[in-house]
Amino acid sequence: MTEVSPTSKAKREPLISVRNLERVYRLGEQTIHALRPLDLEIHQGDFIAIAGPSGSGKSTLLQLLGLVDSPTHGEVRVRDRSAQELGGEQRAALRLRTLGFVFQAFNLLQMLTARQNVEIALALAGVPRRQRRNRAVELLSAVGLAQRLEHRPLQLSGGERQRVAIARALANNPDVILADEPTGNLDSQTGREIVSLLEDLNRAGQTIVMVTHNLEIARRASRLFLMRDGGIREVDPSAARTEE
Ligand code: ADP
Repeated sequence: MTEVSPTSKAKREPLISVRNLERVYRLGEQTIHALRPLDLEIHQGDFIAIAGPSGSGKSTLLQLLGLVDSPTHGEVRVRDRSAQELGGEQRAALRLRTLGFVFQAFNLLQMLTARQNVEIALALAGVPRRQRRNRAVELLSAVGLAQRLEHRPLQLSGGERQRVAIARALANNPDVILADEPTGNLDSQTGREIVSLLEDLNRAGQTIVMVTHNLEIARRASRLFLMRDGGIREVDPSAARTEE
């Protein structure tokens, strides 16, 4: 049997780790425990799905992982840096360097072409102007859009728009892609194609965290977490039943 040496174990630092994370919203007299204290580690190469019914806390968790919200208690560490100890600007820089976002509503700029939407993200990531066009073409080709470079979002199908958004998310070469209901606005066949693309990226080494309320889609991830009333538990994706 091959033994795991202590050094190789020590090297397997999580990309993101969450300790005792809790988020409470206070609305007047009402206290909402959107996230009950939870721990989670995301490692290089993971394809994680977070599933659960509406209101179970999925978006709250994703916003905390994405460093766009702050917890009531607990901490989020990205590449072993505590997000809570950083100022706003440093946190934004860490987010830009390490995270790529994909949204249900695609969030593309309507006046720009597919290529320009990706080029903007490259500009934000500090890629020199001369290299942006080639890199954008490369990224869009990698998601199957080599023939759609000069199309604007309204000239693209929903699935194609989500591919542009995925190419954009890849622009800064992120440690982790955070996808919030990436198939939520797509018909089921197109949704399956988008998840296949995410699977391909994951096989090539990309770490992905995907939130979805669709358990059929969620079961295709390599690790599956189910949320309910702000609590979370990990289950075996192949054993998770559709009615859970
Ligand atoms: P999901 O993404 O699983 O649908 P959310 O994370 O959006 O769930 O919401 C979890 C709970 O927190 C829900 O009860 C929701 O109403 C509440 N909630 C979410 N955002 C806020 C907010 N900004 N203020 C108050 N309550 C909120």
